Amino acid sequence: MQIKDIAIIGAGPAGLIAAERLAQAGHRVTIHERMPSPARKFLLAGRGGLNLTHSEPLESFLPHYGAARDWLEPAIQAFPPQALRDWADELGAESFIGTSGRVFPKAMKASPLLRAWLRRLDGLGVRLEAGRRWTGWNDEGALTFATAAGEVTVAADATLLALGGASWPRLGSDGGWVPLLAGKGVAISPLRPANGGFAVAWSDTLRERFAGAPLKRITLRFAGKEIVGEAMIDAHGLEGGAIYALSGSLREAIARDGSALLEIDLRPDLDLARLTEKLGKRRPGETLSNHLRKAAGLSPAAVAVLRDSVGGRLDESPAALAAAIKSASVRLTGTMPLDRAISSAGGIAAGEIDGGFMLRRLPGVFVAGEMLDWEAPTGGYLLQGCFATGVAAAAGMVAWLARGTSTENPVP
Ligand SMILES: Cc1cc2nc3c(=O)[nH]c(=O)nc-3n(C[C@H](O)[C@H](O)[C@H](O)COP(=O)(O)OP(=O)(O)OC[C@H]3O[C@@H](n4cnc5c(N)ncnc54)[C@H](O)[C@@H]3O)c2cc1C
Repeated sequence: MQIKDIAIIGAGPAGLIAAERLAQAGHRVTIHERMPSPARKFLLAGRGGLNLTHSEPLESFLPHYGAARDWLEPAIQAFPPQALRDWADELGAESFIGTSGRVFPKAMKASPLLRAWLRRLDGLGVRLEAGRRWTGWNDEGALTFATAAGEVTVAADATLLALGGASWPRLGSDGGWVPLLAGKGVAISPLRPANGGFAVAWSDTLRERFAGAPLKRITLRFAGKEIVGEAMIDAHGLEGGAIYALSGSLREAIARDGSALLEIDLRPDLDLARLTEKLGKRRPGETLSNHLRKAAGLSPAAVAVLRDSVGGRLDESPAALAAAIKSASVRLTGTMPLDRAISSAGGIAAGEIDGGFMLRRLPGVFVAGEMLDWEAPTGGYLLQGCFATGVAAAAGMVAWLARGTSTENPVP
């Protein structure tokens, strides 16, 4: 085998796992990262426990990738959730399955796993060049980077771009690669917020008193989908796991219609008849808020959402209150900004890559991770998708290099 020089740009999970695979295949690998240290978003994900993947069987796992399922499936089949768990275990980050079926490292953080991973990469001879922002290619086809000491150029036999999406740009991924690839004719669907909150014009009372309060054990309904979970009231809207699970269809509806009407069942565990019966027992002189808290078990935040859903004018009859609690309507008027979303939708169009994750227009340039045009809800599907495409792109590159690296001789 001929040893080749590989440039990987982006030290997030997709780039790092590709570096590991390529170095294990015997190649000389250098990772170029714009930030002073690697994997900042991965470390931030660790603050929430680092939901690595999900334990459900692939038949129910794969549909979470929606329209991208078809082209992502081979990569996920080749590096499925169990492979990711085994890999983490080997690095000393033994994982466990939470009650929701989500998989987390026992340490509930990313830093021990990342430390062990970077040690492994170092042992494999992978070089990490931090503080290098990729700016494109020069006239000779070499990669160009902006550094504190000026421009650096790098010639490589093959390149892997793993530059992430555009959420949380202060962690490094800002979508700055979009014009660089679009300039080469690569079709990119616009980066949009995914797994992010939505704007709601709350009343002043709700905003001032309940921003930051959770709505626990609720059911959200939109466009025929029903999600049981939690949401969080934000001064400017609603966010949280149950909202994120609907974020794709809510975002599309808002883009199409200008707003979306979300239905919230604030007591999904009680049916309408039982709730009406409970609300029928109101003590004389009891305020409506106290009655709703005691008889219907609503939190003060849930009562405030209920009041807002009818513009403050609640019909106090037991049947009407019960109906309002079972389907409180909240109008979502926009998406929260991309820089506050957990992930991005959009990215390099699937038609631009071949089965080995190489850009058809740029032979020798491979792509992986969140910069590709797929989205998924939270629950471990994001990291699983990044790891699996990183592994697949590395395998695609190894196969391509073995066939010959000349750009005059691209893979058909
Ligand atoms: C708060 C938060 C919590 C999350 N929690 C979870 C979770 O629990 N489970 C889950 O599955 N997912 C989670 N995610 C999502 C997950 O972290 C991302 O989907 C994943 O990190 C994307 O991996 P990536 O390698 O594609 O890109 P990134 O992790 O974004 O890495 C890309 C790297 O490329 C670098 N880069 C970008 N542009 C350039 C350039 N021009 N030159 C050089 N380097 C560049 C960036 O600095 C960055 O280091 C979370 C995200 C956030 C924001």
